[in-house]
Amino acid sequence: MEIELFAKHLITLADSYDTSDIHILPEEKHYSAYFRLYGRMEKQFFLDMEEGKRLISYFKFISNMDVGERRKPQSGSLSYELNNKFIDLRFSTITNYHAKESLVIRLLQEKKRTDLYKSSFFKYELEQLQTLMTFKSGLIVFSGPVDSGKTTTIYQLVKNRISDDKQQVVTVEDPVEIHEEQFLQTEVNEKAGITYEHLLKSSLRHHPDVLIVGEIRDEETAKMVIRGALTGHLIIASVHAKNVQGVVSRLMELGISIELLQQTIIGITFQKLLPIYCPLCVKNCSPYCTHLFQKQKRAALYEVRSGENLKILFDPSFKLNLSEKLSANREFNHLLRKVQMYGYISEKTYQQYYIP
Ligand SMILES: [Zn+2]
Repeated sequence: MEIELFAKHLITLADSYDTSDIHILPEEKHYSAYFRLYGRMEKQFFLDMEEGKRLISYFKFISNMDVGERRKPQSGSLSYELNNKFIDLRFSTITNYHAKESLVIRLLQEKKRTDLYKSSFFKYELEQLQTLMTFKSGLIVFSGPVDSGKTTTIYQLVKNRISDDKQQVVTVEDPVEIHEEQFLQTEVNEKAGITYEHLLKSSLRHHPDVLIVGEIRDEETAKMVIRGALTGHLIIASVHAKNVQGVVSRLMELGISIELLQQTIIGITFQKLLPIYCPLCVKNCSPYCTHLFQKQKRAALYEVRSGENLKILFDPSFKLNLSEKLSANREFNHLLRKVQMYGYISEKTYQQYYIP
């Protein structure tokens, strides 16, 4: 097949599977093309050495990289036309010590409409989140594993907030995952000396109504986020943690006192994307089966802490009967069991996603 046609086929297929990235990797005697699907790498194509090299050269050419340069890592981007729409593609190459080049292509999701109510299990948590989004200032922290739909959730909630009211939304990300024209999106670029701290500082000077911070990853970012929340901004940030309690511990590890956390945090949420049980497959649908639409094969489960339920996290000795009961019923593992009992997920999925 002609390389240009094959390239188009590859992108079309990746787009139809909702793939986040394509990896074209050299193996011992050939090249393989993988799609990242639901967080896993799935092999799609074998290419012989020559085809693999030509494919990489083709992508380098159309994304304005130096085709002749095969040793230094390069990056490029391109708005790719596909069936009357444009997909933004980011390319990066790297060469291994055998002088074989590999290429990763990231597909940025452009304005894919997501109805959060359709892609999650319970209304209650989403309504809590919508309420939190109406606050003028404070910090809302999202947590959950990689590929749990945090960015999608945050973006959609913020879009709902600004749907009938023009507001300034700035994002600081590494990298930008979803294109959104209504937001001012900025991206870390270490090579160009644009760090998280730089972007955060300049974003706060912009006095945004809402600031979205990709990840609180170190003490410096943590401090700046807290300062921003104290000075009248609504800040939405992600933190790496295993559960809602872990968010508090993580921020304390990063040097933020419990008093400051209490003053600034208005909500903490933890989420996971669960594979939906397919009655026709009699297990979870494979990415390739057509029983369910790609988007319906997984749904998000949220635990949301705000108000009294949030206070408990800051003070484990805090006792209040009502909130304790409420808290226990809306805790992640409880909700997970409920979803399994309704038949939305399998027992196996319950076991896999249970937080020990
Ligand atoms: Zn199925």
